[in-house]
Amino acid sequence: MDLELRDKAILISGGAAGIGAAISTACAREGAIPVILDRNEDVARRFAEHLSSEGHRCELILLDLKTPEDCRQAVEDALRFCGKIDGLVNNAGVNDSVGLEHGDPERFEHSLHSNLMHYYALAHFALPALKLTTGSIVNIASKVALTGQGNTSGYAAAKGAQLALTREWAVELLPTGIRVNAVIPAEVMTPLYRQWIATFPEPEEKLKSIERRIPFGHRLTTPEEIADAVVFLLSPRSGHTTGQQIHVDGGYVHLDRAL
Ligand code: NAP
Repeated sequence: MDLELRDKAILISGGAAGIGAAISTACAREGAIPVILDRNEDVARRFAEHLSSEGHRCELILLDLKTPEDCRQAVEDALRFCGKIDGLVNNAGVNDSVGLEHGDPERFEHSLHSNLMHYYALAHFALPALKLTTGSIVNIASKVALTGQGNTSGYAAAKGAQLALTREWAVELLPTGIRVNAVIPAEVMTPLYRQWIATFPEPEEKLKSIERRIPFGHRLTTPEEIADAVVFLLSPRSGHTTGQQIHVDGGYVHLDRAL
């Protein structure tokens, strides 16, 4: 299927590692121009070089999304590089273990800044450009918004808000033709996931016990499988899909995990 993404400029937050890198790669392979926004300078430069060596065009914005000004700057840079924005993928985030008991209101607020505020700010500042291209927005959320995880109130609140905003923006943007959808991963092997699994006393055993409970194939989802759903949602080929929350998780959230 031709996804009709050739020469489309797609701004991807956290686009240099894990799920974001897979999305950047999938966009590039479809002929789009990933505008990779990431704070991890070494990783991002190496990743951009790798994409270029495969013959793909990509652009790099090295920035830690901390303030609304950072987000405005990122959008300005994307427009300077490409002259337009056809798609925004809000993906950067960190499961930062700010619990109810083992946390405090300041750390909770900080977690919302790390995980939520830049989703809104990037969409807000990119909106005028997205209107000009009738672009598309994809928010990467998490199953934690729906199942909870324990000891991660800030991340869970941010992920829940991302799902609410996906519906809210889809409604607000109906008159513009801009579609807004969310992809909800559950268990995906990435640098962030590797860090999390390493916090358990026996990480290998923990990983096996998680895999056993994933109904489809008893394995983790790959970043590429998340990316394939995202490029479809960015593409005009999903032209009548908006306000949706797509679970790419081997049935983890909805199917009987005892099977
Ligand atoms: P990852 O492996 O940590 O990759 C994310 C990239 O984004 C990293 O390079 C990270 O830099 C960067 N980043 C994070 N916050 C940033 C910020 N404020 N400004 C600029 N760059 C930033 O994470 P991932 O596992 O691919 O997760 C990507 C998204 O998927 C997140 O929204 C996460 O909540 C969601 N998700 C993941 C899973 C999973 O199983 N992996 C499950 C459900 C949902 P640093 O390395 O410096 O942090």
